[in-house]
Amino acid sequence: MKYDSIMIHYGELSTKGANRRLFIQQLLHNVRSALKPMGLTATGGRDHIYVQVNELDSIDSVIARLQEVSGIQRLTPVMKVEKEIEQINQGSLALLLDSKAKTFKVETKRADKTFPLDSYGTSREVGGFLLGHIRGIEVDVHNPEQVLRVNIREDACYLSLQDYPGLGGYPLGMNGRVLMLLSGGIDSPVAAYMLMRRGIEVDCLHFASPPYTSEAVLDKLKDLLKVLNAYQSDIKLSVVPFTKLQEEIYRNVPEPYCITIMRRMMVRIAVGVAKKTKCLAIATGESIGQVASQTLESVQVINEVTSFPILRPLAVSDKVSIIDDAKRIGTYDISIRPFEDCCTIFKPRKPKTKPRSDECEFYEAKFDWAPLVETCIENLTHIYLSEGEELIR
Ligand code: ATP
Ligand code: MG
Repeated sequence: MKYDSIMIHYGELSTKGANRRLFIQQLLHNVRSALKPMGLTATGGRDHIYVQVNELDSIDSVIARLQEVSGIQRLTPVMKVEKEIEQINQGSLALLLDSKAKTFKVETKRADKTFPLDSYGTSREVGGFLLGHIRGIEVDVHNPEQVLRVNIREDACYLSLQDYPGLGGYPLGMNGRVLMLLSGGIDSPVAAYMLMRRGIEVDCLHFASPPYTSEAVLDKLKDLLKVLNAYQSDIKLSVVPFTKLQEEIYRNVPEPYCITIMRRMMVRIAVGVAKKTKCLAIATGESIGQVASQTLESVQVINEVTSFPILRPLAVSDKVSIIDDAKRIGTYDISIRPFEDCCTIFKPRKPKTKPRSDECEFYEAKFDWAPLVETCIENLTHIYLSEGEELIR
């Protein structure tokens, strides 16, 4: 391996002028934590973070790990040489020989204007040297097998052949913390991932209704969160004992309204938990039109119970693209394991697709739900997932 470091290009940094320092500090911190188990370190600067690698590291596994860190736009394995044409030539030769390409072109970027050759002159010089030292190789400016990039910066010259895409977005921890309502389905883990990618830290809340729902759901949720640990190394999952309240709903509310009222109760509880734990919003995996409880009319009457923000990252995503995302991040196979959700168990035969708020209020007035909501908020159990393992506390 000829590379000595990986150059990290910042994500959406250019649009965040005032937050630049915070962005870089947070990203550097996250990169260092992600690479710590590999025994690697990173240094940060105004324009890039560099991860030092050595002969023994497998570049591929380092890149793969960095591709899970949000806030990174692009990753480039680089060879660092001094700003001397002889060194640039020799380094380029080593890289190109290694690549076994038959055609190539050289592209030079010169940030350091004191370097004696201009960009065009450098590309010509290096290209000429390579042609003279690799048997049978040719220049192809239109469709080369390899582009050799010569990046002349203030501190040194960086040579590279290939870029890898990063996750984009913002570094995790930069945009506050949100309470995600996690069922066991396909949508909510994808929604959680999308929040993490935007730099939002995620706590999770699950509504369990034993004995109607089984303990096995928890194993499924833990497995989902272990996958999401790649993007957020520590995740808290709180479980709401929802049985009593749910039974009361079904005793007092006509069947078509049960789901809507249940959702309103879920929101009340989630907002209570979010305020207690200093989360700035709650979030769901709802997608408009997907099922009866996710029409805009339903969303409206569900939202009415609070002025607290409710994020719906998948609001306008279609199911096919949600499934693609779930497969890509690795939650899909876990999500499709059969399970009993508290929503599916009490599923009404004909749910109301256009519920009315006066009717909701009418049915809610029939029973004393407020103390039950309070009890739910006060009796959570907590599970902690850290770097793919459950922490026993
Ligand atoms: P998902 O795949 O996320 O389960 P879904 O299509 O099954 O979504 P619903 O069951 O209608 O949709 O739930 C919509 C959203 O409500 C979920 O994405 C989740 O955020 C929340 N939710 C539903 N059930 C629960 C639960 N038992 N605990 C926590 N949140 C839930
Ligand atoms: Mg569900």
